[in-house]
Amino acid sequence: MDCDLRPYQEEVVQAALRGENSIIWLPTGGGKTRAAVYITKKHLETTANAKVAVLVNKVHLVDQHFAKEFKPFLGSTYRITAVSGDSNEKDLFGCLVKASDLVICTAQILENALINMEEEKHVELTDFTLLVIDECHHTQKESVYNKIMGRYVEKKVRKEGNLPQILGLTASPGTGGNKQLDKAVEHVLQICANLDSVIVSTKNFIPVLQKVVPRPKKQYDIVEKRALDPFGDHLKAMMWMIHEFMPSTVSRSLREMGTQEYEADVVELEKEGVKNENRLIAQCALHLRQYNDALLINDTVRMVDAFRGLDEFYNSRKTRLLDGTDIFLQGLFDENSVELKQLASNALYENPKLTQLQCTLQQEFNNENSRAILFSKTRRGTHCLLDWVNSNPELQRVNIRAGILTGAGTGANHMTQNEQKETITRFRTGILNLLISTSVAEEGLDIPECNLVVRYGLLTNEIAQQQASGRARAVNSVYSVVAEEGGREMRRELTNEYLEDLTARAIDQVQQMSPREFRLEISKLQQIAVMTRIEAERKKNERKQHYSPGQVQFQCRDCFLPVCSGEDLRTIENTHHVNINPEFERHYRAGVQVVLEKSFEDWEPGRLISCRNCGKEWGMEIKFRRVVILPCLKIKSFSLKTPEGKSTPKKWKNVEFQVKEFDFLADMSTHFPDLDLDE
Ligand SMILES: [Zn+2]
Repeated sequence: MDCDLRPYQEEVVQAALRGENSIIWLPTGGGKTRAAVYITKKHLETTANAKVAVLVNKVHLVDQHFAKEFKPFLGSTYRITAVSGDSNEKDLFGCLVKASDLVICTAQILENALINMEEEKHVELTDFTLLVIDECHHTQKESVYNKIMGRYVEKKVRKEGNLPQILGLTASPGTGGNKQLDKAVEHVLQICANLDSVIVSTKNFIPVLQKVVPRPKKQYDIVEKRALDPFGDHLKAMMWMIHEFMPSTVSRSLREMGTQEYEADVVELEKEGVKNENRLIAQCALHLRQYNDALLINDTVRMVDAFRGLDEFYNSRKTRLLDGTDIFLQGLFDENSVELKQLASNALYENPKLTQLQCTLQQEFNNENSRAILFSKTRRGTHCLLDWVNSNPELQRVNIRAGILTGAGTGANHMTQNEQKETITRFRTGILNLLISTSVAEEGLDIPECNLVVRYGLLTNEIAQQQASGRARAVNSVYSVVAEEGGREMRRELTNEYLEDLTARAIDQVQQMSPREFRLEISKLQQIAVMTRIEAERKKNERKQHYSPGQVQFQCRDCFLPVCSGEDLRTIENTHHVNINPEFERHYRAGVQVVLEKSFEDWEPGRLISCRNCGKEWGMEIKFRRVVILPCLKIKSFSLKTPEGKSTPKKWKNVEFQVKEFDFLADMSTHFPDLDLDE
């Protein structure tokens, strides 16, 4: 198949065709990937021993780029391999790269292969002659892209040769949260430095581009503030009772109920409670967070959705009341649940945002060929909205057929990759005409052109906003923002519009710099980045040596029961933390079997595990090489007792002692005392 480019695409590929490192900046729908295919083709044709890697940041993009772009144009001439995290082939990545001209994979797979020293699995950056980086604005801070490019930049600063050419693709580098032009310029320069690239955009063909990628009509569907909210008021009254149950100094420090700020406050409060082993405060804080969640849900979807969340929470803990605090909290809910349920079912006081949303949808779907996407903030929100659509007679009358699209993952509410694919296919073929989605569809997903994009109760940055609006590509399409008058969502939307414009001005300023000035600036930033990274690495190693593993005791986060020592822990594949002490078994209870779509080389999932004393969920079993069952622990479910007091690390990488790597023979000898495994 011929790969013909539009004039503006021709313009932006020139730097790359000269062999320069470059970032292509084109809006969603402008054909960035096609431009990359063109560059890759020329590169393969003209470079001796060429080898190309196309890196993506989301698993579903591997197949999408392979099937829709690279294979049709290059598949008959070159050996192309697509590797995603779900395939077993990733384990022999080194061999695959040797046997291919072009590899398409997630950045994480390349990163793993760069670290892994086994010959069949290992690759070097210098094995490639061209690296294509999709959605390259993520190349910053601790992202996988930036880890890979960090290595590249370090090699460059050390003047090591044979580095591949870099081609970055983005619809917007963003301003990095900055609202001033000079800071936005710094951000764009930093992205350029991280990718060691210039940034190119069309200068001569802007009208052509605007014709190919029409901007949707923006429409603000503004809702007045809810006048009466007896359900929400009742929740707040219950929260006041919990406040009164706690020492008065504590509750006075909390900000306004029903806000993100309140959530942040009670999250802190729970940590304080755990650190001081004050179960009353820790548990009250935990429950207040549930109530606050209910208020937030009440603010976006239906009252019944808010009630259901609380009801499920209390039902799951009914049978495990450890002390007076538990009895008080459970009692408070039980006494009020009937009234709450009644209030929730009174349609008179329902959320006015939903009424507006109904209007917006009805209007669009009067046209029976319409297709729309509704973006909502949380996975839970999407499920509530689907339920609402399906039970709303007005929306059923205009024949809305809705489906959910959320991120792929392993949790209970996550979709699998196949389910994602299936949903998109059903949307494309018209079986579904409304997708209710979290931000996953904002970026990169190949979704048919839509007539309507609705952002409902959503707060994201300017990059996500721009990509969402890029989904409304049909002629005369509408981009609607349903939000409360003067509310946060509305303010954020307006800020993002301003930031989108600021991004364009910042890029323009960077492009105006003389090549010499630009190179000097970039090289300065790169040297700083290398030094910063070395220093961070040193600090990280220092932190790991702060305590010896034996000095750290693990306690259950909810009931403070001491359960194991840091010495009992080992890591598997550098990420999973398992307890190898057979004694540990008496502390937990195993529940339902965990199902993961992915498969792993050395292990498979077992059952969920939880605290035998209080029922707190701790993690899951891992069946290692089908021989032993090891409990794998989530750090968030524990608090750590150290010689300098208690701590509640959020991630395993923040613990201040070294966890040894799992050694099957040495570590398992205690499990099989009759065998001499060391022989
Ligand atoms: Zn416990």
